[in-house]
Amino acid sequence: MADIEVKALHKRYPDGTVAVDQVDLSIGDGELFVMLGPSGCGKTTTLRAIAGLERQTTGDIRIGDTLVNDQPPAERDIAMVFQFYALYPHLKTRDNLAFPLRAEGLPKAEVRRRVDEVARLMRLGPLLDRRPRQLSGGEQQRVALARALVRRPRAFLMDEPLTNLDAELRADMRTEIKHLQGELGATMVYVTHDQVEAMSLGHRIAILNKGRVEQIGTPLEVYDRPASLFCAAFIGSPPMNLIEVEVADGQLRGQGGLVLTPPPGVPRDRRLVAGVRPEALAVTEAGAERSVPARVVSAEWLGDEIIYVVDHGGQRDVRVRMPPTVRHAAGAAVGLRHTGGTPVVYDVRTEELVA
Ligand code: ATP
Repeated sequence: MADIEVKALHKRYPDGTVAVDQVDLSIGDGELFVMLGPSGCGKTTTLRAIAGLERQTTGDIRIGDTLVNDQPPAERDIAMVFQFYALYPHLKTRDNLAFPLRAEGLPKAEVRRRVDEVARLMRLGPLLDRRPRQLSGGEQQRVALARALVRRPRAFLMDEPLTNLDAELRADMRTEIKHLQGELGATMVYVTHDQVEAMSLGHRIAILNKGRVEQIGTPLEVYDRPASLFCAAFIGSPPMNLIEVEVADGQLRGQGGLVLTPPPGVPRDRRLVAGVRPEALAVTEAGAERSVPARVVSAEWLGDEIIYVVDHGGQRDVRVRMPPTVRHAAGAAVGLRHTGGTPVVYDVRTEELVA
């Protein structure tokens, strides 16, 4: 396997659209690296540039020790898995898996050995003699993954490979991909717009917005300290509450009276927004100690938890994660209390993390 270095990657399409704007990425050998962002942020273009399917306008791409800017896709020795699994419909699973190896001209015995090995790894044994139309969507995607794995390329590039699967199968496949990636020590770049997928899969995540990298970090880092208001609003389900605050008497005060402990180094000379996770707040009885007044806008009962949306200080979308035993109806007057830790703080003007 190999590491991948992307330097100042820039892609401008002929119609003037800038899809990728000076992107730098350093992906380690054996790393599962996720590119996450909303539709149109430039994930696919970046991935296609790494694969050689799209020529960058400027910037360099290195795979292992090789600068691959001028290499066609076939010479880059990488495998790509897309959202749509393009299996050959007339071939049995066994032959779909063998296809890339035969194309490389490997001896028959070696092809057979490698196909058997990947079939065992991905538990495809019972499916080896079926054609794609005799397989479910999830099974087809497993075969497509296996076909990528069988080649042992220098890196795997995956573009939303699980999008077409139902929720349960997606979760299973996530586990499977993570396991296989670890087992093979594979370098993998995985593109998704689904933050849950990114958090559960990635060793590190790059969050992209409008062609630019907003943050690169481990799942824990991007969850604990989103680097910008964009990242704060993107990571977490529901995401962080963003509450405008002022520094007064050594405290952060929201408009509705919510008081938060400031993190060290909070600047005093600008407008600030505090980021507070829904699990760092609690809905209490109205008037409870250390609570401020709020009103329930809606309560979403999810079985193991309730997500309250409350109106506090004129902000009608403050979200609070509570255990399912606490019940307040929509419209109820309640209290809102900060329960955990110090918030993160953003500059309203630059939208960047400042403390
Ligand atoms: P999605 O998740 O929807 O696939 P993405 O993050 O992968 O989105 P890209 O497909 O990389 O985004 O597209 C980035 C931007 O470039 C978008 O604004 C898109 O409309 C634009 N774009 C993509 N291909 C072309 C093209 N061939 N010509 C012009 N603009 C393009």
